[in-house]
Amino acid sequence: MKKPFVTLEQLKKITEKYPTPFYLYDEKGIRENVRRLQKAFSWNPGFREYFAVKATPNPFLLRLLKEEGCGTDCSSLTELMLADAVGFHGSDIMFSSNDTPAQEFVLAKKLGGIINLDDFTHIDYLKEATGIPETICCRYNPGGTFQISNAIMDNPGESKYGFPYDQLKEGFLKLRSYGAKRFGLHAFLASNTTDDAYYPTLAGILFRTAVDLYKQTGIAVSFINLSGGIGIPYRPEQKPADIEKIGEGVRMAYEEILVPAGLKNVDIYTELGRYILGPYGCLVTTAIHEKHIYKEYIGVDACAANLMRPAMYGAYHHITVMGKENAPCDHRYDITGSLCENNDKFAIDRMLPKINKGDLLVIHDAGAHGHAMGYNYNGRLRSAELLLKEDGPVELIRRAETPMDYFATLDFSETFQILKKREKELGIE
Ligand SMILES: *Cc1c(COP(=O)(O)O)cnc(C)c1O
Repeated sequence: MKKPFVTLEQLKKITEKYPTPFYLYDEKGIRENVRRLQKAFSWNPGFREYFAVKATPNPFLLRLLKEEGCGTDCSSLTELMLADAVGFHGSDIMFSSNDTPAQEFVLAKKLGGIINLDDFTHIDYLKEATGIPETICCRYNPGGTFQISNAIMDNPGESKYGFPYDQLKEGFLKLRSYGAKRFGLHAFLASNTTDDAYYPTLAGILFRTAVDLYKQTGIAVSFINLSGGIGIPYRPEQKPADIEKIGEGVRMAYEEILVPAGLKNVDIYTELGRYILGPYGCLVTTAIHEKHIYKEYIGVDACAANLMRPAMYGAYHHITVMGKENAPCDHRYDITGSLCENNDKFAIDRMLPKINKGDLLVIHDAGAHGHAMGYNYNGRLRSAELLLKEDGPVELIRRAETPMDYFATLDFSETFQILKKREKELGIE
């Protein structure tokens, strides 16, 4: 059974001040989880987690991760700006982007971040835009299919990312001739997997590639970035990834492949997003309607614009009806949002306790790729984000959007002035 990290009593108190829907994050859970990851990789003195900002781009959470020693993995101009503003500097920043506009390379270099190139042709593009930095990383794409013991995990050959091996080799030589001195290697081959063999298998591929590159170019990599992809158990019956076992698996591959080849001081980096924050954030929403037609529907005050994963991928998110944790799940519901899209359902045919109007629902595992993927379709507004502090109280870490935020990009127009005036006259808060 999945248990929320917050109680009904706590939530009732929170909703007195902050109306639903809102995201709630768990400081204690986040800190403990990061420490567990760091411990699992503590055999590698240079280990560092570069949190994937795109998963949860909130400065308060980034600051918390900074306190725990993490860096940031950015992929866009605004993510770089956010990381910089929170106080991540120089090698605290990894810039893993693709199809990158020149101005983003310029900013990444200005901030001293580690640029992770996605393609051979980006070498000259980067040189022209801002020059080649001393430290540089390249993203590898081995092509074909990526398998773990006969199970196909993904199809790198169909993916837009990274350099094939031959281009990687040429790229390293070219970068060296342009003045690069410290090299890194990166790959991202599977997403959201709780298979404990993922990182060790990926590490094996990257370590062997680093050895081949060393033999063929004389360039010894300084770091290897295993990127993101470790998943979380969205379903209650799913087994979580065993991070100690994963860390040990990567250590064994390191000892077997890198060390005998003379590559001994290679730092291991990760760029996890989902694994770090996913379970430690939830979307809290209130049941506002029950509808009885061909099926039983519960309408809630959140919608897919707040959390798009179920509508977009059919993703499962566990739901707890607060205060009814021990009641029998003897009602079959579709839990819906208000978008004029029939896929706006947080759950379909889900067995849950009887839900009454006013019940608080916790939608689990929304701490990563949740609020961040929010959007404004149907004029829906993004919700607030709150942090449940280690010592009890909640802190507002992002306010909810207002209608005038929605209209903000029209602020040059006459309509905007009318909207502002009408907002008052119509009594809209
Ligand atoms: C999205 C992304 C990540 C994080 O992925 P998770 O699935 O959240 O771990 C890491 N690195 C890169 C380059 C990404 O694009």
